[in-house]
Amino acid sequence: MHSHLYDSSPLHAHAHPSPSTMGSAPSISRRMLLAAGGFLATTLLGRRELAIAQDHPLWSSEVTIYTQGNWRYIVSNGIPNHVTGVFPNQNNPNTISPQRYRFQVAARPQIADQITPNPLGTFGVAINGVTFDPGAAEFWRGDRSWQYEALSGQINLGLDGNNAHVQPSGAYHYHGLPMGLLANLGDGRRMLLLGYAADGFPIYAQYGYVNPADPASGVKKMRSGYQLKQGRRPNNGPGGAYDGTFGQDYEFVGAGDLDECNGRFGVTPEYPDGVYHYYITERFPTISRNFRGVPSTSFRRSPADRQSPPGRPQTPLPDLHPPNRPRRPPTSD
Ligand SMILES: [Zn+2]
Repeated sequence: MHSHLYDSSPLHAHAHPSPSTMGSAPSISRRMLLAAGGFLATTLLGRRELAIAQDHPLWSSEVTIYTQGNWRYIVSNGIPNHVTGVFPNQNNPNTISPQRYRFQVAARPQIADQITPNPLGTFGVAINGVTFDPGAAEFWRGDRSWQYEALSGQINLGLDGNNAHVQPSGAYHYHGLPMGLLANLGDGRRMLLLGYAADGFPIYAQYGYVNPADPASGVKKMRSGYQLKQGRRPNNGPGGAYDGTFGQDYEFVGAGDLDECNGRFGVTPEYPDGVYHYYITERFPTISRNFRGVPSTSFRRSPADRQSPPGRPQTPLPDLHPPNRPRRPPTSD
């Protein structure tokens, strides 16, 4: 029914997403794979054509972004428009599959009276239709007051070179800077609109204007205002020094360029009159864990998206990575 491009040689002897999970599987041709914008190298091996495309999702990225009235809509299938890591892998047992996203955010968002924390759940969506989900649902001994940081290097959640991996629902999502998307946009030292937060404010990559009011002031890498706490964790927790293993190891001190939502007000290429906007920084929190505006309910996941393994109780955690548990940091025992 579909491609014979893929060969089971050890070059790419991993599981591909099963098209049978999709309502109508696309007929897959080499042209389609190339059109998907990902990496595909083919070579001739004797008379047999062999595709070396181990990192390539089988589906094409589909995304439509439009505004209507007071709303901006992002409709997508959640498939990235760039090469991904191999999924499933040893530390992420899930397979990328198309989603049915239909997000609705305010086209002219307003700053709210209060910040809305977002320790779990989707922060926003990239312009390629892939979601930003910074907070992993991994806790020290199930204690929600100690949440493992996905990018700390202390736990292995099977992230790929895009700081991304896959939910049990098949949703590919970013925990940090989406390197493949950046490369597709030309990277470079300039302000890059990467997507929209659930509250409607735009999200930019790491560069912002030196003077937030002056686009002619040049750009610099934005520094988050968070720092590691000093000293050691309290004895009733995981113990050890504050080393970034947990989100709670950090505190906002305001030393960087950005506020506690990892954003600031200023002009941008898309908003020459100025707008509140977020940045994705290299360091914690990378993607904000707080909303400056009011998040749209269209980003809340339905229970069907959570897909606990059969026989296990449904948990309300949106970012599960069963069955692999994080290894305990050496300081925990
Ligand atoms: Zn995740």
